[in-house]
Amino acid sequence: MSEDPRRGIPRTDLALATAPLAAAAQRLGRTRVRAAVTTAQERARRGEIRPDEVIDAAVTSLPTRASSLTPVLNATGVVVHTNIGRAPLSPTAIEAVVDAAGYVDVEMDLASGARSRRGAGALTALLEAVPDAGAALAVNNGAAALVLATTALAAGREVIVSRGEMVEIGDGFRLPDLIASTGARLREVGTTNRTHARDYLEAIGPETGCILKVHPSNFRVDGFVASVGVPPLSGARRPDGSPVPVVADIGSGLLTPDPLLPDEPDATSWLREGASIVTASGDKLLGGPQAGLVLGDAEVVELLRRHPLARALRVDKLTLAALEATVSGPAPPVTTSLHVTADELRPRVDALATALGREVVAVEGRVGGGGAPGVPLDGWALEIPVAAVERLRRPRGDGPVVLARVDDGRGLVDLRCIPADRDGDVTTALRAALRTPPSPS
Ligand SMILES: *Cc1c(COP(=O)(O)O)cnc(C)c1O
Repeated sequence: MSEDPRRGIPRTDLALATAPLAAAAQRLGRTRVRAAVTTAQERARRGEIRPDEVIDAAVTSLPTRASSLTPVLNATGVVVHTNIGRAPLSPTAIEAVVDAAGYVDVEMDLASGARSRRGAGALTALLEAVPDAGAALAVNNGAAALVLATTALAAGREVIVSRGEMVEIGDGFRLPDLIASTGARLREVGTTNRTHARDYLEAIGPETGCILKVHPSNFRVDGFVASVGVPPLSGARRPDGSPVPVVADIGSGLLTPDPLLPDEPDATSWLREGASIVTASGDKLLGGPQAGLVLGDAEVVELLRRHPLARALRVDKLTLAALEATVSGPAPPVTTSLHVTADELRPRVDALATALGREVVAVEGRVGGGGAPGVPLDGWALEIPVAAVERLRRPRGDGPVVLARVDDGRGLVDLRCIPADRDGDVTTALRAALRTPPSPS
């Protein structure tokens, strides 16, 4: 009579003491590794694997990454793609984040040992990039910047907004709801398609907290339309002669104009036109970490900074590090992807097409992230079957995840947002997804 094979299943403590699992526990934590061992032991008890395969099975079942977030190669051609984390950080910003991950002098002056202004480096970098701003502040995201501004300037009073700018940004984020949540009252002026300077000015009264201008970043209205820029509103006063601050939510975070995006507002231009402060996102066209930027008049920014809500919306050291490195460092990937030309993309896509025996088609990339809806980005893409798009998203083995897009029933691989040094990875992933055998070399 042979001995019960299940007797050979290694005990949990002995399994955890083996070199590969001890190393895995160092990296991933004992709890996760213990769970993997338990699962492998159960499989052995059910006879699915042999007892001497338990350690190997546990090792293979462990995640290769420390978090469940999976990096993807963005082959959608959409530069700022909210569902995959908007802006990828530049290598310089990543280095800054890694440096800041330990103990770091985020709120200490090392020369004197005294406490210092939190994140001063990032704010200085912003002010150097936007000299028209007297002061800067960074909070959790663009929505937080807007909430802080309307709370500090208009809670219990009125915010004057054009009916043409009562926007929904995405994911159910609606400007009127956001403002109502701060305890400020909306004072809507004008109509959906036309608002004039006198509409704003006639609405100003003792109850006015601020005027809010919002860039309608994700749609366009054509036809019989009129909207008001900042100039006729700046310098507006309440009946008692006190100035009415003009808050301008520019959304996408351009600090200076970008000739490629002529309709996209930027912080410098809007401050020059007379906005008291501008608010913007850090992870759209600025190409940095998720953050909300406030730039402008030093007194108004100080009012926001001292408001109790500012403490609840403050950013962490990792964000401050990435923000500083993005603003003062080399052009981030978002800028590079936005400006890459069709001519620059063509040879890269041609190389893919030759390697895989597929067609190249002309495509338009998009800015995305609710930005610059009317601006097409000319480029070239590799056409693949829609089924291959699915397989690229769920690769077998440990290959990279490639996110392609489906357009009009065609699968498209757009290299616009992929660093050129990753083209080889894309080719490998495509080979597997298209089930094309490697060419003999
Ligand atoms: C994106 C956007 C926001 C919200 O910014 P988040 O950083 O996503 O919170 C607000 N206003 C405008 C005009 C935007 O485009």
